[in-house]
Amino acid sequence: MKKVTALLLSMAMGMCLLAGCGSASTGESESSTAAAESGITTVTEGTLTMATNAYFPPYEYYEGSEIVGIDAEIAAAVAEKLGLELKIEDMEFDSIITAVQTGKADMGLAGMTVTDERKQMINFTDTYAEGIQSVIVKEDSDIANVPDDLTGKKIGVQLSTTGDIYATEEFGKDNVEQFNKGNDAVAALVAGKIDAVIIDNQPAISYVGANEGLKILDTSYATEEYAACISKDNEALLEAVNGALAELKEDGTIQGILDKYIK
Ligand code: GLN
Repeated sequence: MKKVTALLLSMAMGMCLLAGCGSASTGESESSTAAAESGITTVTEGTLTMATNAYFPPYEYYEGSEIVGIDAEIAAAVAEKLGLELKIEDMEFDSIITAVQTGKADMGLAGMTVTDERKQMINFTDTYAEGIQSVIVKEDSDIANVPDDLTGKKIGVQLSTTGDIYATEEFGKDNVEQFNKGNDAVAALVAGKIDAVIIDNQPAISYVGANEGLKILDTSYATEEYAACISKDNEALLEAVNGALAELKEDGTIQGILDKYIK
């Protein structure tokens, strides 16, 4: 009996050698090994957890139940380089920095603009794209010149975004209505509840394309740089992501992803 077991065992081991099975060869273990070798620690071992707000097309949006877009693809490419499995967590934009600070996510990637205020709270990676703050109004709006014509108007923004910060600074709190999602601000504009929406140019183009009777003013409001944010406590991950981004810029992957979504 013992002999039979030993024989079966050695046969199984032999087959394993031939077929290359065993735990070390599964994707997940390879992932954690690669990440561990480079000294990266993540919230969940072997996983790169990305926090985003998936109402920001074409950077992140739902296609069915899946979150797709520029940031989702860049994160997938970065995760692959680091040997990690990508997991995307959708949350309000306003919660992303806290999620990164408190160890709920490894990285925020959300068309997030690099600002000095945010740098106090988290580290930014190198930038990977440019954003412009745009103004959406109804086609028949009398608002034409920015910022002058916006004075005294009701302006919709997405809570805690740079659009929110600029609008509140320049036109005062009373003139600004904050929404949790960009599309809620646009819906309020369509419904005539507000006069304009200040939001990043690419989502603006998507929203104007998806809703009748809206236009984007020619005057762009501010030019910004997008980057991923990472906890100040995880310098190793910051370096690793910057290394991956540099390679992905160098080999044209990032440009390819941008070109796929921005025509
Ligand atoms: N770029 C803007 C910001 O960082 C908006 C980002 C977003 O709404 N996802 O504040």
